[in-house]
Amino acid sequence: MTPLEIDLFPCRSDNFGVLLHDPVTGATASIDAPEEKPIRDALARRGWTLSHIFTTHHHNDHVEANLALKDRFGVTIIGPARETIPGIDRKVDGGDSFDFAGRPVEVILTPGHTAGHICFHLPGERLLFAADTLFALGCGRLFEGTPAQMWQSLEKLAALPEETIVYFGHEYTLSNARFAITVDPDNAALASRVAEIESLRAAGAFTAPTTIGLEKATNPFLRAADPAIRRHLRMEKASDAEVFAEIRARKDRF
Ligand code: ZN
Ligand code: FE
Repeated sequence: MTPLEIDLFPCRSDNFGVLLHDPVTGATASIDAPEEKPIRDALARRGWTLSHIFTTHHHNDHVEANLALKDRFGVTIIGPARETIPGIDRKVDGGDSFDFAGRPVEVILTPGHTAGHICFHLPGERLLFAADTLFALGCGRLFEGTPAQMWQSLEKLAALPEETIVYFGHEYTLSNARFAITVDPDNAALASRVAEIESLRAAGAFTAPTTIGLEKATNPFLRAADPAIRRHLRMEKASDAEVFAEIRARKDRF
C-alpha cells in the first residue's frame, strides 16, 4: 500500500494541527480541528481536499473549526460517542474500528483528561494520534477523570508496539522535560533527550512526533513502575496508579 502522508503544523498558541492524506484516493483527515486558517493554509499548500475530521475530545482548542470546515468541505466528522462534539456524523467508542482509505482505524478509549477522550490508532501504519492523553514527556491534565483512570488509559497506549509513531496535541515538551528530570534525575536516556529537545526548540523545530518506545524509556508518566523513580519519591510500596497520581500532582504544582 502507498504510505499515508502527514502534514504537521502549528495552530493557536501551542496546539498541533495534523493532516493525514492518502495519495491514492485523495482521502484527507484532520486530526482535531484546533483552528480554521492554519488547517486551510496547510490544505492549500499541499493541494489536498479535506474529507474527514477525527475528533479526540470536546475541548474548544480541538473542535473550534469543526463547523466551519464542515461547511466549506462537507467533511465527515468522526468522534467520541461519550462527548458532545459540534457537527459529529459518526460516534465511535473504545474497541470500535472504522475504515480510512482502505485502512483500519482503531478507537482507543482513554478517559482522564476528559471523560470520553479517544485516541486513533492505525495498526498497519504504526501510527497513533494521542491528542491530550499522552504528550512527549507528559500527559494531559486530569480535568474530568481520576488518576487511576488516566493511568489505565496510559497503560493501554504503552501496550502498543514500541515503534508506533505518536502524534500529540500540544507543544509542551520543553516544560514537560524540565519537570521530568525532577522526578527521574538519574535516567541517562531522559537527560540526553532533554538536551535534544532544548536544541530542537532553540531552532524553532517541533518535538512531534515521538514513539511509544521513546516515551516508555523517558516519560515519567509511563514509568510509575520504575524502581529508581519509586525510590526517588519514597513510594517503593505504592501501587503504580498511586505513583502516577503523585507524579501528576507534582506536575500540577510545578
Ligand atoms: Zn484538551
Ligand atoms: Fe488541548
